[in-house]
Amino acid sequence: MRRKLVVGNWKMNGSLDQNRLLLEALVRHLDEVKQVDIAVCLPYPYLFQAQAILAASDIAWGAQNVATHEGGAYTGEVSAAMLKEFGSTYVIVGHSERNGAYCESDADVASKFAIAKQHGITPIFCVGETLQERESGVMEYAIANQLDAILSVSGGALLDQTVIAYEPVWAIGTNKTATPEQVRAAHSFIRERIAALHPGAAESVRILYGGSVNPRNASQLLSMPDVDGGLIGRCALDADDFERICRAA
Ligand code: 13P
Repeated sequence: MRRKLVVGNWKMNGSLDQNRLLLEALVRHLDEVKQVDIAVCLPYPYLFQAQAILAASDIAWGAQNVATHEGGAYTGEVSAAMLKEFGSTYVIVGHSERNGAYCESDADVASKFAIAKQHGITPIFCVGETLQERESGVMEYAIANQLDAILSVSGGALLDQTVIAYEPVWAIGTNKTATPEQVRAAHSFIRERIAALHPGAAESVRILYGGSVNPRNASQLLSMPDVDGGLIGRCALDADDFERICRAA
């Protein structure tokens, strides 16, 4: 039985003051919500603050990216070992905002996935089609290609306990949420693809939906078969919205 997981992706938002208010509100309101795992992924400089405020709660924290290397002369990068030092449970890898603007390749994402696992951090691996891919009928092909980058390098053991986020690019930040049926179909396709290559891992992998989830659509979207929770952008920046989504999951 997979436990539901709701993760807030704060993207490049926050300040020490805003974060403190938000994190303290989450602790006050969400610590009693035991039926779902909850986490926030914040910008690197604030990991220490998350650790200080969340450590005594059940809310986990993580980062939004990780270096492909262990350490050394890589200006501007942050290693998996550093994330681990700040108590990170999760790291998002392969978000479409990075594939596009920062030209991350499938091979880069596969390396980030593997290095996170080696350091005991759970990668949240994002896949999803563009609007053009959906409209031209190659959605499954596009998702399969993204998935295969990690499925081909990962043994079944590496996949165990990982998280995949299905985030259709056209639904991110747009208020164009995928329909529950579109979400169900994509999630079931992803699980079948994993099962075909690593039958033992498919049932343990949690598959989250992300893309314009809000308190009004959360309960319907997150209760679809094969949906194990959500990856939340804008609504994770509002304590009340995020709390309502977590309670709906
Ligand atoms: P929104 O919830 O703002 O659409 O963002 C989704 C997302 O990109 C989460 O990673």
